[in-house]
Amino acid sequence: MTDVVIVGAGQAGSALAAKLRALGHSGAITIVGEETAPPYQRPPLSKGYLLGDMAEERLWLRSPDYYTEQAITLRLGAPVSAIDRAAQTVTVAGEALHYDELVLTTGSIPRQLPAAIGGTLTGVHVVRTLMDVNAKKHRFVAGARVVIVGGGYIGLEGAAVAAKLGLDVTVIEAAPRILQRVAAPETSDYFRALHRAHGVKILEGVGLDRILGEGHVSGVRMADGRELPADFVILGIGIRPAIDLAEAAGLTLDNGIATDAYGRTSDPHIWAAGDCASFPWKGGRLRLESVGNAIDQAEAVAANIMGADAPYVAQPWFWSDQYDCKLQIAGLNTGYDTIATRQGEGEAVSFWYYRGETLLAVDAMNDPRAYMVGKRLIEMGKSPSRAEVSNPETNLKALLKV
Ligand code: FAD
Repeated sequence: MTDVVIVGAGQAGSALAAKLRALGHSGAITIVGEETAPPYQRPPLSKGYLLGDMAEERLWLRSPDYYTEQAITLRLGAPVSAIDRAAQTVTVAGEALHYDELVLTTGSIPRQLPAAIGGTLTGVHVVRTLMDVNAKKHRFVAGARVVIVGGGYIGLEGAAVAAKLGLDVTVIEAAPRILQRVAAPETSDYFRALHRAHGVKILEGVGLDRILGEGHVSGVRMADGRELPADFVILGIGIRPAIDLAEAAGLTLDNGIATDAYGRTSDPHIWAAGDCASFPWKGGRLRLESVGNAIDQAEAVAANIMGADAPYVAQPWFWSDQYDCKLQIAGLNTGYDTIATRQGEGEAVSFWYYRGETLLAVDAMNDPRAYMVGKRLIEMGKSPSRAEVSNPETNLKALLKV
């Protein structure tokens, strides 16, 4: 019987353990997590949970009883500090734990700012863990001034929650436009307008010079010299894959822990999945930071540990909730050259990314049908013409049958 140890009690780790049991794995399964909470979902941390709409238990991916019933051991509150590949053990709280197969689902780490520019002042927050969010929730009171550094999805979701709660919100983005790294100008324009309609100030094309304050945040100074007062600051400036353990163990890295198509690292008994892992993709490598990928890749690794010998084929999808807008994204827009815009019913709109005549991705705002059809088309390798997609008379579902 094979003993499996999973490092990281998050979205991927939990999915992997569950899938192993579902596939009939009868050996020991241990999930080691450095956080104290049982595996939980992160998306509500910048949405409903931050808003105060959700109890903490509703974040949990599975009830603690589930792990007991499935004989999955959760060892929480202490990290794995080392891997001994020759002995096939990991070190947890000074103790060596044996594995036959080891899976790294260590997730990612939010970028912080150095102390020299105010990054360690009280009132500077990131949004990654339940503890991060619990530490700053009390600051979300009407009238408080918050500056959000970074106009990506996490920053904008935080801005939406803060605006809803009546805070004075400013987002500063160093790139020429919010969402520049991940979306077309059309999507940026949509969200800029949405936020401005809710009173959020969006300052683009201007970086942060430093966070001001003595002990506690009092404001920020921007690269153009302007200063803004602030009671607290949220950093939404990206993440880096949590690779330190893998690096110390001498595993191959390449924008994350490099795996083959089956999820195996450069050590045949060590696997990786989720935010921390990069995998082969269309002649290059890809690392995704999304729930869908964490689950699908983890389940693929579980199947391969059980001998399926089936490569992981990513079908990227993502979502973001801001105010009453649900954005759903299908596919990956990397390398797009044109956009087709489709006006749906009411407030619904979607932007379809093409490279040449090939459909790559869809951003659908309050348009679940456009998202569903776009996702299926991309998975099927079908590309309707831009004219067909843009024509509001086109029956989207019919495009699947062509
Ligand atoms: P995680 O869920 O982060 O789990 C990794 C775990 O490993 C962590 O608990 C970490 O503490 C632990 N760990 C690391 N090192 C060690 C060690 N040495 N020993 C023990 N434990 C260790 N995705 C979407 O698709 N849609 C969204 O709307 C969305 N919103 C998000 C909002 C927020 C605020 C955040 C932070 C993320 C959001 N994401 C969203 C991304 C999504 O949550 C992640 O992609 C997903 O959680 C990745 O799963 P994972 O298992 O790889 O990592």
